Amino acid sequence: MTDLTLADWQQRARELDIEGRAFIQGEYVDALSRGRFDCVSPIDGRVLAQVASCDAQDAEHAVASAREVFAAGLWSRLAPARRKAILIRFADLLEAHGEELALLETLDMGKPIGDALAVDIPGAARALRWSGEAIDKVYDEVAPTPHDQLGLVTREPVGVVAAIVPWNFPLMMACWKLGPALATGNSVILKPSEKSPLTAIRIARLAIEAGIPAGVLNVLPGYGHTVGKALALHMDVDTLVFTGSTRVAKQLMIYAGESNMKRVWLEAGGKSPNIVFADAPDLYQAAEAAASAIAFNQGEVCTAGSRLLVESSIRERFLPLLVEALKAWKPGNPLDPATNIGALVDTQQLDTVLSYIEAGHAEGATLLLGGKRTLEETGGLYVEPTIFDGVDNAMKIAREEIFGPVLSVIGFDTPEQAIAIANDTQYGLAAAVWTADLSKALLTARALRAGSIWVNQYEGGDMTAPFGGFKQSGNGRDKSLHAFDKYTELKATWIKL
Ligand code: NAD
Repeated sequence: MTDLTLADWQQRARELDIEGRAFIQGEYVDALSRGRFDCVSPIDGRVLAQVASCDAQDAEHAVASAREVFAAGLWSRLAPARRKAILIRFADLLEAHGEELALLETLDMGKPIGDALAVDIPGAARALRWSGEAIDKVYDEVAPTPHDQLGLVTREPVGVVAAIVPWNFPLMMACWKLGPALATGNSVILKPSEKSPLTAIRIARLAIEAGIPAGVLNVLPGYGHTVGKALALHMDVDTLVFTGSTRVAKQLMIYAGESNMKRVWLEAGGKSPNIVFADAPDLYQAAEAAASAIAFNQGEVCTAGSRLLVESSIRERFLPLLVEALKAWKPGNPLDPATNIGALVDTQQLDTVLSYIEAGHAEGATLLLGGKRTLEETGGLYVEPTIFDGVDNAMKIAREEIFGPVLSVIGFDTPEQAIAIANDTQYGLAAAVWTADLSKALLTARALRAGSIWVNQYEGGDMTAPFGGFKQSGNGRDKSLHAFDKYTELKATWIKL
C-alpha cells in the first residue's frame, strides 16, 4: 500500500498520458476505420481518452497476426521453462506499474483505489505468475498399452484464442485468461469491455517489454456487437473464452455454432445465496461478511452475495447487525484511499440498479437501508448500499442479477428449505453457509448446486482452486491447473513397436 492522498491521486490523474489505441503485431494502431469513442470516468463524467473503436477489419488483422506468429512457433514452440520466465517477468512488470494500473482502473470504472491496489493489480499479476510457474511442471501421459504399442497422450495449444472480458475487474479477469492461455503457448486477442479498456491496452506494451513476441498478445478495444461479434464469428479463432453476462454468453454459443464450432468457455452471471443458520459461530462476523459480499466493488461482482438467507429464529438479532455493518460502507470518491465503495461504472448501470430498487418497492419488499442515488452533485454515479427485507425468492430482485449494492433478505425455517431456495435459480456460481455444525455445513455444501462454496466466510479462494459456474453461470473453469484444459487440445499418438 502507499500513503498517497486523494489530492496526490487527483494530481497523478491529471498528469496521466493515456493510450487508447489498439495493439496489433506489437504496435499501437488506430482502428482501420479511424473510429474512436469517448472513454468516460464515472467519477466526474470526464473524458479520459479517445479509444479505438475496432471492428471486423481490425479483428481480421489481429487474427492474421496471431495466427502467423503461432504457426511460426516463436512462442507456441518455445520451451515451457522459457515461457515461464517471460510470464514471471510480465507479472513483475504489472507490479512495478501497479500504481499507474490501479489509477487507470479506478478512473475507468469507479472502484476504490485501495481495492485496485490491494486486489485487482496483485490478483492480475498472481494469475500470470502462477500459470507461468506451473507450466514447466505439468507432464503429459503415456497410455497403458499392450507391449508392442506406445501410446502418447499430449497436450497442444489450441492456437488462436479470443478472450472477451467484462468491466468489473477489468485487468484481473483478463489475466485469469491470459495466464493459462499464454503459458500453454497460444496467441491471444484480448477484447476488453468498451466500458473499461484502459488497463488492457496499457499492459500490451508491458508484454512486449517482458519478452512476449509481437503478435502473441493483441488487444482490440471496441464494442461487443462490432469487434466482439466479429471475433466470435471468426473462422480462424480456435477458442473463445469469455467472462460476462449470461445473455451474451448464450449469444456466443450461437456464433460458435454458426461459424467454425470454435471451443467456447463461459464465465457468466450469478445470484449467489449466502445462508446464515441460527448456529452460525459468530453472527457479527456473518453480518460483516454479508455486508461486504454485497458492497465490495459496488456490488458489481459476479459472486456478490445478493440473496441473504436468514434462519427465522435469528432474524430479530441478525438484521440490526447487518444494517449496522452495511452502514459502514459509505459511497465516496474512489480516488480517496479512505473510500470503500466507489462509483457505478456508467449511467446505464446506474439506471439498471435504480430500476431494480423500484422493482423491489413495487413487488412489496421492505426497504431496510439505502435505496437512493447519492452524491449526485459531484457528477459521480453513486448508489447507497441497499437492503430489502421480506423478499420472496420469486421476486424479480431475487431472481435477476442486479450487479449493484442491493441485497435481498429471504427467510427460512429448515435446512431443507434453505437449500431449496438457494438452488431455485438459473445461476450456480457460488454460495456460502454459516454454521458451527460441521456435518450440517458439509451436507449443505454438497447439496448446493454451485461452483464455489464458502463455509463460515465469503469469497474464499486463490489461484490453487478452480473457479467457475454450474448451470447458466457458465462452463469450464478459470484458475488452477484445470484452467489449462480450456487452452489445450489432447492428442493421442500411437506408435507400433
Ligand atoms: P457483458 O456480457 O455485457 O459484456 C462482457 C463482454 O462481452 C464485453 O467485452 C462486451 O463488449 C462483450 N460483448 C457484448 N455483446 C457481445 C456480442 N454480441 N458479441 C461478442 N461480445 C460481446 O457483461 P458486463 O456487463 O461487461 O459484465 C458484467 C457481467 O459479467 C455480469 O453478468 C457478471 O456476473 C459477469 N461476470 C462473471 C464473472 C465470472 O467469473 N463468472 C466474473 C466477472 C463478471
